[in-house]
Amino acid sequence: MSVAKAGLHARRQSPGKSQDARGNDALHVVTTVQTLQTPVLVLNASYEPINICGARRALVLVLKGVARTEEEQGAELHSARVRMALPSVIRLLEYRRIPHQTRALSRKNILLRDRNSCQYCGVILPSAELTLDHVVPRSRGGLSTWENLVAACHSCNRRKGNHLLSEIDHMKLIREPRPFTLHTSRHIMRMIGHSDQKWRKYLYY
Ligand SMILES: [Zn+2]
Repeated sequence: MSVAKAGLHARRQSPGKSQDARGNDALHVVTTVQTLQTPVLVLNASYEPINICGARRALVLVLKGVARTEEEQGAELHSARVRMALPSVIRLLEYRRIPHQTRALSRKNILLRDRNSCQYCGVILPSAELTLDHVVPRSRGGLSTWENLVAACHSCNRRKGNHLLSEIDHMKLIREPRPFTLHTSRHIMRMIGHSDQKWRKYLYY
């Protein structure tokens, strides 16, 4: 079920109307399409943080009665009949067993784990300017796993090429890439939610 099917739709901000002009009037926050993509922290019934989803998906879970809103964003979703506060944190009503190891091994998650810094020279770059390097090259049997993939700048990636680190002078990993654990999961959620104060109490303890 989509939000649209639930009879709700976000009001678009009218063009030419700036953020400043609207001010911070909490009673009249207009939901933008972008707001529907804001990350929402998903907690298990036990309050354990388990995932992050978009606000649209979070709203659907709340509307279906699968989850309840624990923290609000401050923005609202309007329709003719319904006015709903967009969630910042939701909690599942029924406890779910979550196999953490199944979290997607993605480029985005590897870069987040490595804090967008090249693991060979330490330079911090925007995601688009970083590559993923296989520590043990694929051509030498290296696998695409959390333990064998690291963020690398183009320059270091080129220099390393199809070599093993032991074959190159003055090149080593700043930090051994760690396998995915609950710690990695929390770290990624902190990185994504670093600007949302409402997430803090659920992620730091
Ligand atoms: Zn580098």
